[in-house]
Order: sequence, then C-alpha cells, then structure tokens
Amino acid sequence: MIDDYVAADAPVRVIDAFVAGLDVAELGFDRALPAATGRPPYDPRDLLRLYIWGYFNEVRSSRRLERECRRNVEAMWLLRRLSPDFKTIADFRRDNGAAIVGACRAFVMLCREAGLFQARLVALDGSKFRAVASRKKVMGRKEIAHEVAHLDGKIADYLAGLDRQDAAEPDDAPNAVTTAIAALEARRGELGRLASRLDAEGHAFVVEGEEDARPMGKGSAPKPPSYNVQTSVDADTGLIVHHEVTDEPTDNRLLYPMAKATRDVLAENELTVVADAGYSNGAQADACERDGITPCVPANRSVNNQGGGMLFDRTAFTYDRATDTYRCPAERMLVRKQIMRRDACVLYAATDCSDCTLKRQCTTAERRFLTRHFHEDALERMNARVKADPDLMRKRRCAAEHPFGTIKRMTAGGRFLTRNLTGTRTEMALSVLAYNILRAINIKAAIA
Ligand code: SF4
Repeated sequence: MIDDYVAADAPVRVIDAFVAGLDVAELGFDRALPAATGRPPYDPRDLLRLYIWGYFNEVRSSRRLERECRRNVEAMWLLRRLSPDFKTIADFRRDNGAAIVGACRAFVMLCREAGLFQARLVALDGSKFRAVASRKKVMGRKEIAHEVAHLDGKIADYLAGLDRQDAAEPDDAPNAVTTAIAALEARRGELGRLASRLDAEGHAFVVEGEEDARPMGKGSAPKPPSYNVQTSVDADTGLIVHHEVTDEPTDNRLLYPMAKATRDVLAENELTVVADAGYSNGAQADACERDGITPCVPANRSVNNQGGGMLFDRTAFTYDRATDTYRCPAERMLVRKQIMRRDACVLYAATDCSDCTLKRQCTTAERRFLTRHFHEDALERMNARVKADPDLMRKRRCAAEHPFGTIKRMTAGGRFLTRNLTGTRTEMALSVLAYNILRAINIKAAIA
C-alpha cells in the first residue's frame, strides 16, 4: 500500500489533515459542491492539497506538479493516485485566488485557537520579490516618447510607399503593407494607453504586460519589476500572523496598515510592533498609538553632513512646547519660520548667530535652521522605546528575517510565477501557508 511508504510523521499528513478540516464551500472554492449531473470535477480539496504540498517542496509550476502526481509517492498518496493535467492544476490556482488566501488565513486562525500566539510582540518586515515581467518591459515617459517617434517614422515611410505604389498600380493595393501599418498603429495606441496610465497614476514608470508591478531596488542600478511583500511575524513562535503583497516601492507607508491588520487577526486590543528604520513615519506612528498599537521603530533621520558631520545635531536643541520654540546650546531661541508641507515639517530659525562663540560648532551658514516633523512627538516616543530596550531590535531580526529566508528558498530566490497583484497574492498565500505549516510542525516537535 502507498500508505506504507509515507512516514507516520511526514508533513504531508499534516497538509492532508488540515485541508480535510476546511470548509471549502464557505471559503468560496469553485466546484466545492459538485453538480448533480455531468462528469464529476476534481474536488478542490485535492488540488489545494497538491498546491500546498508543492510549495512546501519547492515545486510550484503546474507542469511539474502534474509530473509529480505520477511519480512521487507523497503526491500519489495525497491525491489518492489522481493525476490532474497541468491545465486543471493551473486553472485552479488562477480561479481560486481569494479562497486560497482564505485557506491561509484559516491556518492562522487554527494556530490562534490553539493558543500559539502568546507573546504580544510582532515584528514587521518587507522584502522585494521579482515579478514575471523582465526589466526590458519597464517604460517611462522618455522610453514611450522615443518608441512613438520611431513608430511614427515607420508609419510615414509605409504610407509614402503606399502612395507611390498607388500611383504606379492604382488597383493593386498590397495587403502586407496595410497589415503592417495596422500593427504599428495598434502598438502606437497601446503606448498611448500606457502614457495615459502614467499620467493618471502619477508614477514615473509602468511595467508593460504586468502593470501592477513596479521597478524596485536600491541605489542607481536598474531596478527590476517587483512587488513588496510584507509580513508580520509573532516574535515568540516565528509564525506569520499576517502578510500582504503590495506595489509600494518602500516600507515607509506600511507601518499602520500592517499593524492594524495584524491586531485584527489576533483579535487583541493591545499590540506592540517592532520594525526597522524603513518604517519610520510620524503620521503612521501617531495613527498606531491612537488605535492602541505600540510602535517601536528607530528614527530614520537624515544626517547633517555640513561641517564634516561634526556640527551640533538636533539632540543639542531643546523644544519648548509652551512657546513653540527651540533653545540652542548658547541658550538662544530658534523661532518658527515656515511650514514645509511637502516634507511634513516646520522650519525653525535662529534669530541672530553673528556673535555666538559656538557658531563654528553649530552651522556653516549665516544662522542655524532646524526642522521639526508634524508628528515629532510620536517619532520621539517610538525612538525612546527602542533605546529603552535594545533587545527589541535583536528580537525583530530573529523573528522577521527567518521567514523570508525560508520563503525565498521555496520560491527560487523570491520570484513569482504569476502576474499582477491577483496572481502574486495567491502565490504568496500558498508560500505563507506552507511556511506556517512547517513552522507549526517544528514547534510541536520542539515541545514533544
Ligand atoms: S550658532 Fe546660533 S543656534 Fe547655534 S549655538 Fe550659536 S546662537 Fe545658538
């Protein structure tokens, strides 16, 4: 019997038992209730089992899964020797995105009900995963204008050729030329649509063929089309509580949405979240605090490089809330000068620095300026929490970076196989579900 070849403690048995307990009709899987007539479809539970097992074992493509169903003992056991073809497998993932995300959430709920989320500290982190589209498909306004000019030139050449042909042989219009012109005009129309999308969304680039992806990366190197995958990880168990695939190029606007969604999943009134400096955002920290979430994120301030970086930094200045002024090391005042809405801060300026004996240590300009963020208090409170407990950042590293290491190994170094947010969210739900099952098995083994 095939069952003899599957170890009693094999993870595939956990996958089988978890899926068997799911209410697939409630989760919204297609064909969860077979029709009374016609050929019976594959049970969605079987295809879901196959996909979770596949992501668990780094087998993600529908063609490879089809092969494994015919030769791999675990896959044969899991599907009771059913062997769906690759199209059935691929269609299942394409058509059941929301239900697969729901199945991933159901496992988190199972862990919550089992009391696995004890600590009320979660670590947020983000990582870039490569989209299917290649770098060559990244189009900016410059690239679009260049190609439009090239197409216009070619269309004009073809039309001139047609005019010459018509003059010579009026009744013999060459079909190949008119077809080529139609193709060039269709391409031109497509470029016009891309340009309109850039204008409407206010982005600098669009990825042709996968318009939800964004060029992402650091530095001046060419940025490949990618998605920003966010996770919130329970610091105690290493389980992923909540995840999201976003098209945000940075983590800067994701502190509050991720923290709030995590708190909702845990159904807790209070929660502490820790994240790296990339999440430092005063408005988001303020929103977290107002919602009962305690954010711990180190400040991400630009360094004053003037004077070789040896000038007084902002900690040398004391803010006086009553007068809304700063007091400098020479005991003089910096007063409110200007609101800088684009940078969400207020500019303060010293009134007179001309005769100050500390000026060489303070500024290279005529007088000293200082900015204060609109949500400076929330930023300072967040930074103070991190400084008060230096172990927080170590806990963050241990909790948040390990899941991405495992998921990237499962996904060929962090590459999606499907396009756009709909497809990538389905894929990431399968990866997170496979990771969480693996983690839960390891926790249980450690306890036993
Ligand atoms: S240079 Fe101006 S701001 Fe700086 S310490 Fe002197 S008086 Fe104060």
